[in-house]
Amino acid sequence: MTTAESLTSSKTPANAPLAAFVADSRCECQASLRAELDGQRNVLRGTAFLRGKRELAPAHAIGAKGERFDIGWACPFCGRNVLRSFDSSALPRAR
Ligand SMILES: [Zn+2]
Repeated sequence: MTTAESLTSSKTPANAPLAAFVADSRCECQASLRAELDGQRNVLRGTAFLRGKRELAPAHAIGAKGERFDIGWACPFCGRNVLRSFDSSALPRAR
């Protein structure tokens, strides 16, 4: 067995980036916030989920190259700007 798995990622379509990590948090209005991040921890997509309804939530990463970085969401349910800190090494891998 070789460790060639990292070399096979070229089969990922360039126009459909796959999330490498996910970051979950919660808004003060109880909406569940999720950001899907690529390998450089740029936000690919943000969503919010509340009472059975899922909406797109504009999200962006701040200081994504650092060990600690922040993700900001604009909650579509209550309009708050939600800022949460994440530890890069502790981010769960997307799958
Ligand atoms: Zn909210």
